[in-house]
Amino acid sequence: MRIRDLFDRYQGMTSFAPLGFEVQRAEGIYLYDSEGRPFVDLIAGISVCSLGHGDPDVLRAIRTQAERYCHVMVYGEMVLSPQAEFARDIIDALPDGLDKVYFTNSGAEAAEGAIKLARRFTGRAGITAQVQAYHGSTAGALSLMSDPYYTNRYRPLVPGVRFIRQNHTEDFRFIDHTTAAAVVELVQAERGAKVADPGFIKELAAHCKSVGALLVLDEIQTGMGRCGSLYLFEQYGIVPDILLTGKAFGAGMPLAAFISRGDVMDGLADNPVLGHITTFGGHPVCCAAAAAGWKKMQQMQLHQRAVALEAIFRQELQSIPNTEIQGKGALLALHLHNDERCRNTIRHCLELGLISDWFLFAPDALRIAPPLVMTDEQAIQACLIIREAISRADRDLHSVQ
Ligand code: PMP
Repeated sequence: MRIRDLFDRYQGMTSFAPLGFEVQRAEGIYLYDSEGRPFVDLIAGISVCSLGHGDPDVLRAIRTQAERYCHVMVYGEMVLSPQAEFARDIIDALPDGLDKVYFTNSGAEAAEGAIKLARRFTGRAGITAQVQAYHGSTAGALSLMSDPYYTNRYRPLVPGVRFIRQNHTEDFRFIDHTTAAAVVELVQAERGAKVADPGFIKELAAHCKSVGALLVLDEIQTGMGRCGSLYLFEQYGIVPDILLTGKAFGAGMPLAAFISRGDVMDGLADNPVLGHITTFGGHPVCCAAAAAGWKKMQQMQLHQRAVALEAIFRQELQSIPNTEIQGKGALLALHLHNDERCRNTIRHCLELGLISDWFLFAPDALRIAPPLVMTDEQAIQACLIIREAISRADRDLHSVQ
């Protein structure tokens, strides 16, 4: 059987229209298809591969650690140098108040951990999340999703969740003395990279403090340099009570984390003990890869590349009729204001050698979240392809009308 036939026959799927691109290998900003043709990767595995594919330092760290040991024990029982050293690197780079890290396998698991931690610390049940935010697909994280299309079939969800709209301070009435945590994205990535106003976030942080709710920032997509600083909260002049990180955090390996104050985190260890349990969370090979990636990202100052890439994409794409660019750094959405126009643009991009995608809550928007190692010339080239793909998509729309 061909690989595509195996994929269709044996893999459980969650869509009848998968992208279906068969990857032979990946290097730098390119994915190569089964015939060896290069495609520009404009989505970096959904904001993951910031260092590009196949970074030699990350690969070396993976090999070295895999030869030392892989899995030895569940999280937190044994002293493993890749975990302990990487935890130190992270905490050294973060402000006071973010003092301890708990490693998980995925962003969703980090969100679950944060919900549990906030409930334990505050003794309250309520959680406030944002309309059209995404924090993961496990039952708890999914309960933070406002869109009934994606949640109705799983009811009853985790109770006690209320929703606020981005940039609507009047909704703060849903964060009160019963609220354990307000969970927020600074750029609502899956809503089409909608950026929170600094005033809204500052007021939110003050409001949470005044009612004793913990502020949880989900920086799973916005962190690790993608929006122009190591974490985006630095640009907002606030420090969250709990920080969620993932995706690029693992440098291409499955690793995420929730990070908090020492005394908040210590709550996981007492009454009951084992407040969060994970077999593979903080896998030593993933931590070794992540530490190597972390070091390389600082050396290359990749957050500055995110700023430079934003300028290029905005400059080269802004004049396309009937479009609008949202987002920050290298987390951008080109809104095309029509789902079919977007679908066709993605298809034409693929024909022209570039891989993009849409957003969960913005199917009319083209995802621009490339590896941060993309050069200026490569970004300009990508924009030429996008422009051509949109003109072809516009011709398709006109020819059916
Ligand atoms: N939070 C945000 C902001 C995300 O974008 C995602 C994944 N798209 C998640 C959480 C969940 O991460 P994971 O898929 O690793 O569970």
